[in-house]
Amino acid sequence: MPTVRLTETHIRGRYQGSDGGIYTRVEGAEGQCSRCREWAQSLYHRSDERVCGRHVRLITRTRIRFTTTFACRVYRGDVAELPPGTVVRRRDELDVAGRPVRHGAFDKFVLPGGRGFVLVPRSRWAWV
Ligand SMILES: [Zn+2]
Repeated sequence: MPTVRLTETHIRGRYQGSDGGIYTRVEGAEGQCSRCREWAQSLYHRSDERVCGRHVRLITRTRIRFTTTFACRVYRGDVAELPPGTVVRRRDELDVAGRPVRHGAFDKFVLPGGRGFVLVPRSRWAWV
C-alpha cells in the first residue's frame, strides 16, 4: 500500500504530501477511509479523498538521518572549543529539537533537553 510522506506546513494541521497534494488533518468525528474503507477518528483530507493514518507518514522534524559519515561533535557553547567527536555513519539517526539554522558550511541542530547542539555538513541529512 503506497505511503505518502506528509511534511508540516506553516499552517497547523495542514501538510504537503510527497505526492504533490495538500492534506488537511481532520479529527473528532469518525469517518471512513476512501482507500481501505476502515473507520478512523483521524483522517487526512486531500481534495475529495479522505485517507486514514495507514496511508501517510508524518515527518515530525524531531529526528534526522545522516546521509554521510563524519565526526559529530556535541557543542555546548563556543564552537572554537571543539569537543571530542563521535563518528556517525550514513543512515545513523539522531533526535533533534526542530529545524536547523545555517552555520557556515553546516546545518546547526539544537538537541532536545538542553543538551547543546550539533553541526551537520550542509544537506547531508534527511528528516526521518
Ligand atoms: Zn485507510
